[in-house]
Amino acid sequence: ENNRPVRVRFAPSPTGRMHLGSGRTALYNYLLARKTGGTFVLRIEDTDRKRLVPGAEEELIEGMKWLGINFDEGPGIGGPYGPYRQSERKAIYQEYADKLVEAGHAYPCFCTPDRLERMRQEQQKRKEPPHYDRTCRNLSPEEAKRRVEAGEPHVIRFKSPMEGTTTVRDVLRGEITVENRTIDDYILVKTDGFALYHLAATVDDHLMDISHVIRGSEWLPSLPLHVLIHRAFGWVEPEYCHLSVFLKPSGKGKMSKRESADLLKDGYSIYVMDLKELGYLPEAVVNWIALMGWSYDDHTEFFSLKDLVEKFSLEHLNPSPA
Ligand code: GLU
Repeated sequence: ENNRPVRVRFAPSPTGRMHLGSGRTALYNYLLARKTGGTFVLRIEDTDRKRLVPGAEEELIEGMKWLGINFDEGPGIGGPYGPYRQSERKAIYQEYADKLVEAGHAYPCFCTPDRLERMRQEQQKRKEPPHYDRTCRNLSPEEAKRRVEAGEPHVIRFKSPMEGTTTVRDVLRGEITVENRTIDDYILVKTDGFALYHLAATVDDHLMDISHVIRGSEWLPSLPLHVLIHRAFGWVEPEYCHLSVFLKPSGKGKMSKRESADLLKDGYSIYVMDLKELGYLPEAVVNWIALMGWSYDDHTEFFSLKDLVEKFSLEHLNPSPA
């Protein structure tokens, strides 16, 4: 456990409607902040411009308001570490990407989409998991610099260590050790100069002084990379807590439009703002999502937001699917 003042963040990508899983992630972050007198940050992760859905950010903020999950720093409120929309922080990520390249922890890659596609097909034929073959990692720094300065299109890749292991820690799952050679040289910055999620989120978690990262378990496989990026900069990473999977009523995977429409007909929805329209009380929704992955004892069935703040602790989170 670290002794830093608690600063947590909810970092949604505005790529669709706000579902109950996002509501739960926001809620647990909020509860930890309120319980400890910490700070709750809303950060909009909108660097993937192709996947943006108009109105999604507004719906997220409206949904949080309706549930009573108020944030202390974020778009429209400000705070000392803003701006809190990643699309407004492009220059910051570029600066940190340059630092990684200078320090030898990242490198420009000039491989064309055609070459990468052929490589992918070859790997598929050999039944290898898709990965970058590290060709451009072998360019001399001088040559790489010359080609960048000549304006040749390139991405920036992380130079993951080829030997040894990396051990990461998750509050719910304990220590996890991975072989470094299984970690790909992931793209940090795309050809258009926009940072990808891994770099943007890691830099922001550091600059925003985030003490605990509480997020969905779909990010657990990315944890070694995030920790390696923190360590490449010489930063101390936050505590990580990856929540249980939030299963859709039909089981695994993304819910289809049809399933979603059928649910709604029956008076249910997985979308927060639909529940408001259907007349559910926000207190009931909060209580329900709180108990999807957290329990206090076996008999209490109703917790107000105030009760939850009082009783919440990360240790009572449950790693099994909800
Ligand atoms: N933007 C990511 C998402 O919406 C957040 C992941 C994280 O919390 O680091 O899933």
